[in-house]
Amino acid sequence: MRVRVTLACSDCKQRNYNTMKNKKNDPERIEMNKYCKFCHKHTLHKETK
Ligand SMILES: [Zn+2]
Repeated sequence: MRVRVTLACSDCKQRNYNTMKNKKNDPERIEMNKYCKFCHKHTLHKETK
């Protein structure tokens, strides 16, 4: 049930994080507020394929 996903900054589109999600808990694409070292601030990171 656990799948690996990549999180990309919604501002600069850099892929900054790899994480695991539980498909049962998160059937949709996940979005997380994380620090982007390219934007030098916290931005919304979204799951990519
Ligand atoms: Zn960014």
